[in-house]
Amino acid sequence: MIKTALLGHPLGHSLSGVIHTAAFKSVNLDGKYELIDVAPNKLDETIERLKKEGFAGFNVTIPHKVEVKGRLQLWDMLVDYAGATNCVKIKPDGAMYGYNTDIYGFTEAIPVEKRDNLVGKKALVLGNGGAARAVAVALVMMKVGNIDFLVRNLEKASALHELMQNNFKNTCCQLIQTVADISQYSIIVNATPLGMFGENVGKMPLAASILEKANKDTIAYDLVYNPLETAFLKTSKEFGLYTIGGLDMLVYQAQKAFKIFTGKQPDFEKMKEAALKFL
Ligand code: NAP
Repeated sequence: MIKTALLGHPLGHSLSGVIHTAAFKSVNLDGKYELIDVAPNKLDETIERLKKEGFAGFNVTIPHKVEVKGRLQLWDMLVDYAGATNCVKIKPDGAMYGYNTDIYGFTEAIPVEKRDNLVGKKALVLGNGGAARAVAVALVMMKVGNIDFLVRNLEKASALHELMQNNFKNTCCQLIQTVADISQYSIIVNATPLGMFGENVGKMPLAASILEKANKDTIAYDLVYNPLETAFLKTSKEFGLYTIGGLDMLVYQAQKAFKIFTGKQPDFEKMKEAALKFL
């Protein structure tokens, strides 16, 4: 049996278990994806246990996405660019290789012709946390010309700004606290939890009065996937924008992680179907 896992704290109602279980089924592999709640001071002993028990790899979520890099023997360049690892392959000799599959997931969920239209254009990213970093790297790889980050705390966001300036000299990045002209952006990405199930449900990451003035061919992309249609997506749709929800990103990043763990390409639709059933 192939064993894989998700390490995070707190894990809450993670969808990853059902998505990876569907992936194993779709390629006829006998496998198990365990959800393991790991407090920060237990990361090392948990990793040692996974190695001893022959796990093929694991996903990493908050709060271990930055910390885990110190345990890796080798990592993809994208890990450095995004400043985070979300997928670790354990080799048969115990060596660990790190990847960031969120960047791939974010990109794949945008139809190719829409991606092509973003070359040289301006992007607006709402938020400056871990997901915003992966989004920023993906946007750079799509060759957008400018990225503005709408942030609530300039001091906290300065690390992201620095990371972008040091790594990507050809992409203009700036931190903003108000949106002067929304019509200049070809893509607007919500990378905050605003709109998510729980205390944030129904909340908008950007006022509707601002969103209303966006161009009709602008992409409104919400990383939040629960609910499937957030207030941001619903309002954007009403204003005639092209919308993308967070579920496809989640499933694509899982598809890539599964391939890293097992070497097999699982069926995206079957994985998504399982996630939809769960939601
Ligand atoms: P994070 O590292 O905690 O960052 C959250 C960001 O949102 C921070 O910039 C934070 O600002 C900002 N924020 C939080 N509450 C806010 C509020 N009330 N008003 C304005 N800004 C607020 O979280 P993350 O990992 O980046 O995740 C962000 C969202 O993306 C979550 O909803 C997560 O579920 C989703 N996500 C989805 C996928 C997917 O595959 N679809 C993947 C990753 C993440 P401060 O820095 O000022 O605190």
